[in-house]
Amino acid sequence: MNTLKKYLHPILIFVIFEAVAITLWLTKHNLFYLFNFSYIGISIALGIFLYIRKYKHARRVVQLLVGLYMLVYLGFIKGENMQIEGFWYYLFTGVFEAATIHYAVAKIFGPLIFGRGWCGYACWTAMVLDFLPYKVPQKPRKKLGWIRYITFAASLIFVAALFLAKVGNIERIMFWAFLIGNLVYYGVGIALAFAFRDNRAFCKYICPITVFLKPMSYFSLFRVRCDKEKCVSCGKCKRVCPMNVDVTDNSRKRENGTECILCMECVKNCPKDAL
Ligand code: SF4
Ligand code: SF4
Ligand code: SF4
Repeated sequence: MNTLKKYLHPILIFVIFEAVAITLWLTKHNLFYLFNFSYIGISIALGIFLYIRKYKHARRVVQLLVGLYMLVYLGFIKGENMQIEGFWYYLFTGVFEAATIHYAVAKIFGPLIFGRGWCGYACWTAMVLDFLPYKVPQKPRKKLGWIRYITFAASLIFVAALFLAKVGNIERIMFWAFLIGNLVYYGVGIALAFAFRDNRAFCKYICPITVFLKPMSYFSLFRVRCDKEKCVSCGKCKRVCPMNVDVTDNSRKRENGTECILCMECVKNCPKDAL
């Protein structure tokens, strides 16, 4: 019974993803969804299992399992544009498939349950950025978050323009947009990480997907909470947080609360087990 309680979270995650996998498989009559969401669910559940077993690199294992699968298999081999342009493309074509479903599950409705878990465990951009040397920001946060709205609008305008101009073979363009877009993301992300001495600078200022992720994760069911009885206000949790979240504040309005990527660095480092 105790073992079941200890591993309740990975079991729950597995069950949620399996429910999505089976529902989509049966409703869309496509075996791919069963494989896709089962694979992602098993990867995440494995990561949480490893975390509970105190394996240091548990999160990185999930990032690599899910991130590489999406980038290499879905993106390069299957030719799906899983970037935001791909989402707009499928939305305009009215097809509830691939990128639209991916966005609905991982980035629009999923965050109501697991917040920005996508950013901590699955994103293939952050998968690379997290290997850079500035795991903890070395400089104060800048007020540059407004840039994300420009990149968000630019992606929408780009795809809308292709449709309005009636450009032929948009699907092919989407494939190239995925390749080039990823190269640009990696280039800008790495340059910003070194310029701001912060691996996650791209996430904080540029990434257009945060326009979906931030408001939805405000309501997230899974959150790191602080036990005020145990907390001695040492400030270590904030010092190790890659996203500058004030996790000692339990309110939804905590400083940078919608930036939390559930990486658990604060939990691992709290000397009083208050988180
Ligand atoms: S903010 Fe954007 S780039 Fe960063 S992890 Fe999230 S989705 Fe990926
Ligand atoms: S690290 Fe723990 S004890 Fe220190 S401020 Fe954060 S929650 Fe409180
Ligand atoms: S260190 Fe804690 S508060 Fe900061 S992003 Fe990770 S889980 Fe969230």
